Amino acid sequence: MASLKQAWDSRALVRGAHPRPRLVKTRILGPMMPRTVCQVAKIEETVSLEEELMRLRRENELLRKQLALYQQSSPITPDAAATSASRPAVGPEAVVEVLPRPLPTTVEEVGVDGGILWPTPGERFWERAPRSAPAPLERGTDQQRPQERDLNTLHVVHITAEMAPIAKVGGLGDVVTGLAKAALARGHFVTVMLPFYESLPVDQIDDLKHEMDVEVPKGYRWDGEMRVGPLRTSVFWGRVQGCPVYLLRPAEDSNSNIFRGGKIYGGSYNEMEAYLYFCRACLEYLHVSNQHPHILQLHDWHAAAAALLFWEVYNPGAVNSRTRVMLTIHNMENTGECRQDEFFFTGMAGEPFASIDKALDERTIGHNPERLNLMKGGIVYSNAITTVSPTYANEVLNGGAAGWLRSTFARPELRSKFHGILNGIDIEEWDPATDPLLPANYDAERAGGKALCKKFLQQGLGLAVDEHKPLVAVVSRLVPQKGIHLIKAALFRTVERGGQFVLLGSGHSDPVFRSLADGQFKDHPDCRLKIMYSERLAHQIYAAADVVVVPSMFEPCGLTQMIALRYGAVPVVRRTGGLADTVFDVDGSGAAPTGSRNGYTFDGADDGSLYGALDRALQLYEQQPSRWSSLSRENMRLDVSWAKSAKSYVEVYRSIAAA
Ligand code: ADP
Repeated sequence: MASLKQAWDSRALVRGAHPRPRLVKTRILGPMMPRTVCQVAKIEETVSLEEELMRLRRENELLRKQLALYQQSSPITPDAAATSASRPAVGPEAVVEVLPRPLPTTVEEVGVDGGILWPTPGERFWERAPRSAPAPLERGTDQQRPQERDLNTLHVVHITAEMAPIAKVGGLGDVVTGLAKAALARGHFVTVMLPFYESLPVDQIDDLKHEMDVEVPKGYRWDGEMRVGPLRTSVFWGRVQGCPVYLLRPAEDSNSNIFRGGKIYGGSYNEMEAYLYFCRACLEYLHVSNQHPHILQLHDWHAAAAALLFWEVYNPGAVNSRTRVMLTIHNMENTGECRQDEFFFTGMAGEPFASIDKALDERTIGHNPERLNLMKGGIVYSNAITTVSPTYANEVLNGGAAGWLRSTFARPELRSKFHGILNGIDIEEWDPATDPLLPANYDAERAGGKALCKKFLQQGLGLAVDEHKPLVAVVSRLVPQKGIHLIKAALFRTVERGGQFVLLGSGHSDPVFRSLADGQFKDHPDCRLKIMYSERLAHQIYAAADVVVVPSMFEPCGLTQMIALRYGAVPVVRRTGGLADTVFDVDGSGAAPTGSRNGYTFDGADDGSLYGALDRALQLYEQQPSRWSSLSRENMRLDVSWAKSAKSYVEVYRSIAAA
């Protein structure tokens, strides 16, 4: 208890030194108390003021991002230097001045240069600003839709290993930020808890400050034995894109290397130990800071142990807790296999969980010792489980997607708390009308900028600059799940048919593409394989692409096809998981939501099946340009935002929230 007291004291000290605006308490307590009409009106007023504030913050952030880009930008050719010298200085005034300018509608209107700093082949053009002046800041019409707001708002805390853009490896990071922002916009009080990885870009975290230190119980190996001792943990607070975030890591002087290193995953520390400790640290901090959210939303296996600890350590017997736990499964492929002695890194023994009805990994029955599985434990111990699309949910319950966890999902009490909610994408982050990373902005009504983006990419990557060649792109982690052999097949087919192919990807299956990049396709005028991770280049590829191929073997949801739609590309996808819920074949006859025949789909896992869909796409592009162009525009208009999905999440939150 001494440690708790110390923690409280240090909290008071830190708070005293750096007072920060508390997020309106009435909203956390509000739903629990009877209210007068006047109270309700006051709360609503507070909520709408907060939302306005959030909106302004987001707008401000966008402006700052653009400014930063253009301030960093140094023209790379003498021509560009001369051009930019004749433009007004970049500064707040310059930005204000360009705000009302309408977007260009055609290539001609943009002009030969239009402020674009055209790249030279071989240059790492994606690392600098694409234009010499900020693009017009006109928000897309879809961002101006009236925002739906909820009354009786909830306090939601996400525990996650990833959060875009500061800690993003794949879609998990995008989803956490997108959902958190959407729920905030609906008026809920949302915070995210994230490991404070050494590699985080702290300049992208606003108002970052040390919140307090907490002593977190943790198991240690000592002389071959496991013992529990406190690990002093520093908790920081800041905002990422307007969303409040707690960042946790072992205190500087703790001698722990957890979360140290240059990457999000794969540091020199033991990953299992790190995330078990992280789960305990999050709960300990919430406990010490007396926070009782309505919902703890845990993401994937990294956070799943928090469900076990929450109910067994912090609320044994589940008495009087107003908090309910939700596990969100982004991918069943990694489930977190954990030795019982490893679980002790949480400060609690693993043995009590080693039964079939709890967290025992059934595949290890009869082994010595038997293992635990964190995802299974999370499923059993959560009040609700969600996954990221209805079709994947169905594949988990009734198909093979659950793998050995099939028997767990066969339990009626678990099936009934399982929901499939389709992901959205963050339409502010992914908006071709305002995206500061693009050489030209565009939207469905003013689509000319897309052609400039294509020319810019072709030129920058050293491809033949030809607006008539269909540009087929893949942006993906390169792992077996993503259909490596089909990505390769798409490459060969596209080039064979006279199109261009661009790949941006990395992962343990990338050697096949590395050798193609250095061999057969080195300096090829129609193919560029970039084996790397670059958020900035990804934006430029989506904007330039005519077709985006997503041939996954399985896909819980998939975001790339939705980003492709938003950027006016036509997706060609294998009909599995969330891909089946978001892409509907242009030539298909089955059920599809009105106006959403938006791409090409195939079912088989062989090259021939892929060709069937890709060929049809390329044929339409080549033979019916005006139909293609209207398909591209229609795709830009589709609603791929979080609006609908956030509403569904709130419904599930409410269904489990304590009365
Ligand atoms: P997953 O989560 O399985 O990786 P998703 O389609 O859900 O797949 O999300 C992938 C996200 O990661 C998208 O935002 C995509 O643009 C991004 N992405 C994948 N690979 C790269 C890369 N090499 N460089 C930049 N962004 C990438």
